[in-house]
Amino acid sequence: MSSNNENKYDEIINLSKNRGILEPTSEVYEGFAGFFDYGPVGVELKKNIEKAWWRFFVQMRDDVVGMDGAIILHPTVWKASGHVDRFKDQIVACTKTPSHKFRADHVIEEELGIATEGMSNDELQKLITENKIKCPVCGSLLGEVSDFRTMFETSVGAESSLIAYLRPETAQAIFADFRWVKRTSRKSLPFGIAQIGKAFRNEISPRNFVFRSREFNQMELEYFIHPDQKFECKYLGDKELGKSARFLDMRTQLKNMEQKEKKTGDEGISMTFGEALEKKVVAWREFDASRKILSEQSSPWHAYWLCKTLEFYTSIGINENNLRFREHVPDELSHYSKATWDLEYRFPFGWKEIVGIANRSDYDLKQHSKFSNKDMSVYDEAKKQNVMPVVIEPSFGLERAIMAVLIESYDRREGAGKDAGKSAGDEKVVLHLANSIAPVKVIVLPLEKKPEPVKIAHDLFEKLKGMYMCDFDESGSIGKRYARADEIGVPVAITIDNESLTDHAATIRYRDTTKQERVPISDIPDKISQIINSSL
Ligand code: ATP
Repeated sequence: MSSNNENKYDEIINLSKNRGILEPTSEVYEGFAGFFDYGPVGVELKKNIEKAWWRFFVQMRDDVVGMDGAIILHPTVWKASGHVDRFKDQIVACTKTPSHKFRADHVIEEELGIATEGMSNDELQKLITENKIKCPVCGSLLGEVSDFRTMFETSVGAESSLIAYLRPETAQAIFADFRWVKRTSRKSLPFGIAQIGKAFRNEISPRNFVFRSREFNQMELEYFIHPDQKFECKYLGDKELGKSARFLDMRTQLKNMEQKEKKTGDEGISMTFGEALEKKVVAWREFDASRKILSEQSSPWHAYWLCKTLEFYTSIGINENNLRFREHVPDELSHYSKATWDLEYRFPFGWKEIVGIANRSDYDLKQHSKFSNKDMSVYDEAKKQNVMPVVIEPSFGLERAIMAVLIESYDRREGAGKDAGKSAGDEKVVLHLANSIAPVKVIVLPLEKKPEPVKIAHDLFEKLKGMYMCDFDESGSIGKRYARADEIGVPVAITIDNESLTDHAATIRYRDTTKQERVPISDIPDKISQIINSSL
């Protein structure tokens, strides 16, 4: 991490704490690793990102419906999905202090700077032994690498004999309810089911603030496609095909792993989605038992959902230069996947996944058909037979989205005069959040303490708060009030002064430019709507 980035990362964590965005839970008891609480500003930011996501992936589409499943599902769901047997991380502990536990792949990646995706316990062990990698906390020898199941277990009912799990992903409720949602929504293929909700993973070493937590939120879409149409995406038009993105595909990574030193295209190679399909960069791949590619064909539905994922992220203010798609290499691929791409953000601690976009094929529906004895296939009127849909799944992590937008929007600028709140040196912090996700949209600031202008300010505030999340601040100098609003990314501030009594106007001040304009008070609600809605 460069020191600049390191500062930014630390400053965001401080801002989060000081301005009520996020902070470790149960802070009065020294926190509880991997669990966080959202404060008054954070909860608004979270809800706004959820709202923006729901609007983009559900509300604006005729082919996607929503649902909200339980957190604790029937335990057999997790047997069918493969989680009971396979949802494991590789753990290694310190021989001197066994409470020092680490993910073996992370310890190696940090020490040697190499990728370890898909390595077996033996392979990781060999790397640790050969390179004499020690406990990162106390420097003692590390022990054996073993498996650790990362699903949280709980017991259900008075006798406590029924073991159930806190869901490690929201997706499985969608698959288990597929027949019910399809029937009640009267959708036909292709269509999607979306869900936003909590997920839980007993991460061995939660870290990087909320990036790797034990309780987090996912925003997931399972998109079901007729198997005969899996290579024809009717929504993929010129707009999507002509759009560019950065792709770091499986082959480039495998080549780079062999070369070890100079790595070409490591940041991802820029090309259009059309080119990515033509070159079979985005492809449906079949593998043999040893994970060698048997066949591949360009995968338009996968490209389409990659493109929509990118569009969503840019719509909430992330610069495309800080985003790339990285494909999972064969050893890293989940057992069900025919190809998985991560959308990665350039965090201060490196390129890291913020969304996983997997081709799950027909794996989940087949498994649930088998384990439940209920046929999950769909009747095809034309063919007069049942078919099993295939699935593309964009899976977003909400906490990672929050970290990305905070990092992206965080800025410091020269203080505005002697009264300005000075967050660091002579500079003050401003969050250039997209208007659609800003926690507070407008702040009303009465400049004078006299009852008449304060009443005008109150009346305006009453009107605006029915439209948007608004704030009212009458304490401290105007510079300090602007600075406090900038720090949490309030796009517009409205000041009411003595003159407002005679000219019936107020001053609108814009966060990003600090420019000001005088606007008749009666026009302000419409004006604010224009400003905020223009970014929706
Ligand atoms: P990683 O490789 O970083 O552990 P993953 O591949 O296990 O992530 P997925 O199973 O693809 O993650 O989950 C989908 C999304 O859920 C991720 O892209 C991420 O945004 C989010 N997510 C997963 N695990 C966590 C976690 N422990 N804390 C916060 N968000 C998470």
